[in-house]
Amino acid sequence: ELTIGQVLGRAAASWPDDIAVVSSHQDIRLTFRELKAAADRMAKGLIAMRLAPGARIGIWSPNRIEWVVTQYAAARAGLILVCINPAYRSSELEHALNLVGCEALVMAERFKTSDYVAMLRELAPELDAATPGGLRAARLPALRWVVLIGGASPAGMIGFDDVAARGAAVDDPTLDERQATVGLDDPTNIQFTSGTTGRPKGATLTHRNLVNNAFFNGQRQGLARGDIVCVTVPLYHCFGMVAGSLCCMVTGATAVYPSLSFEPGPTLEAVARERCTSVYGVPTMFIGMLEHPDFADIELGSLRTGIMGGAPCPEAVMRSVIDDMGMTGVTIAFGMTETSPTSFQTGTGDDIAHRVETVGRVHPHIEAKVVGTDGEILPCGEPGEVLVRGYSVMRGYWDDAPRTREAIDEDRWMHTGDIGTIDADGYCRIVGRAKDLIIRGGENIYPREVEELLHTHPAIAEAQVFGIADARLGEKVCAWVRVTEGNMITADELRAFCKTRLSHFKVPEHVRTVDAFPMTVTGKPQKFLMREAMQAELL
Ligand code: ATP
Ligand code: MG
Repeated sequence: ELTIGQVLGRAAASWPDDIAVVSSHQDIRLTFRELKAAADRMAKGLIAMRLAPGARIGIWSPNRIEWVVTQYAAARAGLILVCINPAYRSSELEHALNLVGCEALVMAERFKTSDYVAMLRELAPELDAATPGGLRAARLPALRWVVLIGGASPAGMIGFDDVAARGAAVDDPTLDERQATVGLDDPTNIQFTSGTTGRPKGATLTHRNLVNNAFFNGQRQGLARGDIVCVTVPLYHCFGMVAGSLCCMVTGATAVYPSLSFEPGPTLEAVARERCTSVYGVPTMFIGMLEHPDFADIELGSLRTGIMGGAPCPEAVMRSVIDDMGMTGVTIAFGMTETSPTSFQTGTGDDIAHRVETVGRVHPHIEAKVVGTDGEILPCGEPGEVLVRGYSVMRGYWDDAPRTREAIDEDRWMHTGDIGTIDADGYCRIVGRAKDLIIRGGENIYPREVEELLHTHPAIAEAQVFGIADARLGEKVCAWVRVTEGNMITADELRAFCKTRLSHFKVPEHVRTVDAFPMTVTGKPQKFLMREAMQAELL
């Protein structure tokens, strides 16, 4: 077993001249040797900046080459990389930085409409008078260094390249010495959960957690040296950072970042141009690619495998990905930030039915069970909460023992909060989040079942089903749908379609057509926000 720094060293020694990473939107390509050299220069700079082993360094940026360099530099220097959501606004940034006590923050200048520099200065007006490394801000008490990616650096900050320049005086033996202090079970990352069900939690993950999970992820996809992976998902999330960046480093594959954040057009172009063999995404991203007006004209023949995951994967969408994108080896992964992330994944060898209907079997070295409300193991096929245990389970939520105890029990079982079944052959089917289960007049309704049906309707591009409070029935079923280009459907038509195919109590009572759903940056629909909006409207 290797630490992340050692994995980088192994890649640079084994495949020095292979391309490690392509940042299409920056027009940058680095070989494994070049990436390691850049990471080492930065790691020396971080040591020169007096960041001690275990110090927290935040990264607040969309997908850019500097993100990847910072990832490996932090690991080489034994620091803990804190992945900060590119969509955060100043109060969320303040919360994240202070929760974990970040001493340094590497950040982009801006992302979409967010001016990061302005937001940071609003939080830390002391920057203007601070010397680099000497910040003392009342609202960000731990923060000393601000490293700005690109452009000229305003007062109190240093430029990204200045970090490496500061490291010029640090020699190789000093870096090697630092690297030697890094243990497999040391935390290397704090990753925030997506915030699908509420406020994000900071999962503390170790080298052992992440490197092994990256390895088995690649194995399920059949990735090897020479594969080219199109990473559309954000690096700040474990899907991009572990299953993307780190998995490529472990297997010797090339990671391609088509754009700052997911956009279907540039993704398809990058697949064609770089001849990608694998592409990742949450279901919404694949829907975006399949619906793109240029889809039919783009050459995607190089695609073979990939990962869909992070949210329920509708069977209809999986079938299109296999048939229309030609990704015959595409896998479904189920996991969560707290488990590094992947626990179940389909893979080479699984037949088509299992590939589209299940999330596959548990990864090697991970145990899983399905339990009832009293913690008893349920018979095969009966739905209950999915629990997992093994090397991949996080150390805990950073500085939050009570929430950690709620999530991980005394026997180290991680309670996923997801309801699923496992059949006699070990295949798992996720039926939904426990929090999303709708109980209407005593009947349990899994939104997933209704969503699957709605996805088979030709006029519906995407559907989200959730419950809202109801005085008489406890809860009522609501659906938000987005219709396909040029189509229309009324609420009555949609209900009529459901009525002939579902028990009456599952038929959505309220239907709304929308252009878009409230989403996390990881591309997950936030039902709690839809619920709030609908409830406010119906009051
Ligand atoms: P938060 O915990 O902050 O509410 P989150 O749970 O969405 O957000 P993540 O750790 O990014 O944060 O996501 C893990 C969750 O995503 C799982 O618990 C599960 O509900 C869902 N999920 C992941 N993969 C799949 C999949 N293949 N099928 C169904 N659900 C999935
Ligand atoms: Mg979660």
